[in-house]
Amino acid sequence: MLPFTIEPTTSPTPADARDAALVDPGFGKLFTDHMVVVRYDEAKGGWYDAKVTARAPIPMDPASSVLHYAQEIFEGMKAYKLSDGSTALFRPDANARRFNESATRMAMPHVPKDLFVESVEQLVRIDSQWFPKVEGGALYLRPFMFASEVFLGVRPAKQYLFITIASPVGAYFKGGIAPVTIWVSQHYTRAAPGGTGAAKCGGNYAASLVAQAEATAQGCDQVVFLDAAEHKWVEELGGMNLFFVFDDGSIITPPLTGTILPGITRSSIIDLARAQGMTVSEQPYSIDQWQADAESGRLRETFACGTAAVVTPVGTVKSPQGSFTIGGNQSGPVTASLRSALVSIQRGDAADPHGWVHRIG
Ligand SMILES: *Cc1c(COP(=O)(O)O)cnc(C)c1O
Repeated sequence: MLPFTIEPTTSPTPADARDAALVDPGFGKLFTDHMVVVRYDEAKGGWYDAKVTARAPIPMDPASSVLHYAQEIFEGMKAYKLSDGSTALFRPDANARRFNESATRMAMPHVPKDLFVESVEQLVRIDSQWFPKVEGGALYLRPFMFASEVFLGVRPAKQYLFITIASPVGAYFKGGIAPVTIWVSQHYTRAAPGGTGAAKCGGNYAASLVAQAEATAQGCDQVVFLDAAEHKWVEELGGMNLFFVFDDGSIITPPLTGTILPGITRSSIIDLARAQGMTVSEQPYSIDQWQADAESGRLRETFACGTAAVVTPVGTVKSPQGSFTIGGNQSGPVTASLRSALVSIQRGDAADPHGWVHRIG
């Protein structure tokens, strides 16, 4: 693997200022002292110059191609302090694999898995003093890659930067694990067949923001997208996958047909639910059925999941046609039990039969 040059910052955040900031870190607004930068140049034969360095602005030419054609992908993952004091990542191999699937879709080069995981580990090691001490706290890691070639022609770029930054985080939603209210987007879709819905690219988020703003204006926490072709099937939230829990103990989650982001939390929840004896089917679920089942009581719970917020109950669904609640707008027992099963493994408090916890030595 590429050797890493380690250049610790010459002006680290003073310990007292850092510890004060870590008391209430919020989400994504506080950053550690370092970053990892790796460069790619087709003419140099690929990846070169891997560096752990002081976190700083990136000088950028105004013709850098990402600023024009948006060749950019990212990952979101967390490092946790385990109860025994050690540090671990959760399924980093899965993030590396998905990153490269996103890269393929966006005509970008792959980052070798070892280089991806080592970049993240290097950053967690050098910024190990940045774990928040708060309940549910973690070090959120954001590996990303973008086209840095200075060129306005339309074709895949020949130069890229792969950077990882870290942000100490508390709980994602301010209300803790209180149920969220979601808005059904009428005018906007997130992803279409053949598009980039399964890739974790910034462009998908750009396209979702107007719908999220509409949800916020309607007093909702999040937006839920329906499929682009029929405007009927429930897909996912702007950044979280959905699960539906029924009175017979069965669970449905929408299938990965290319328009839904294959969440690592989603995949872990499917495994955990099956291990608890529940039947999980990946099958389409319509917005009308969702409302009918919520109203009849056949649907007991709905929850959303993703790395940032882990597992969040959905209590109310609003649209211009009206609104409905699920399970009396309360968080339900299956949501709580799956959340706790997952969090216990992530925090090293439960056995890890799947080998998901990746300790950093
Ligand atoms: C990242 C993301 C998710 C959740 O994926 P996790 O791997 O569970 O964090 C879900 N939907 C979208 C659109 C995403 O970008």
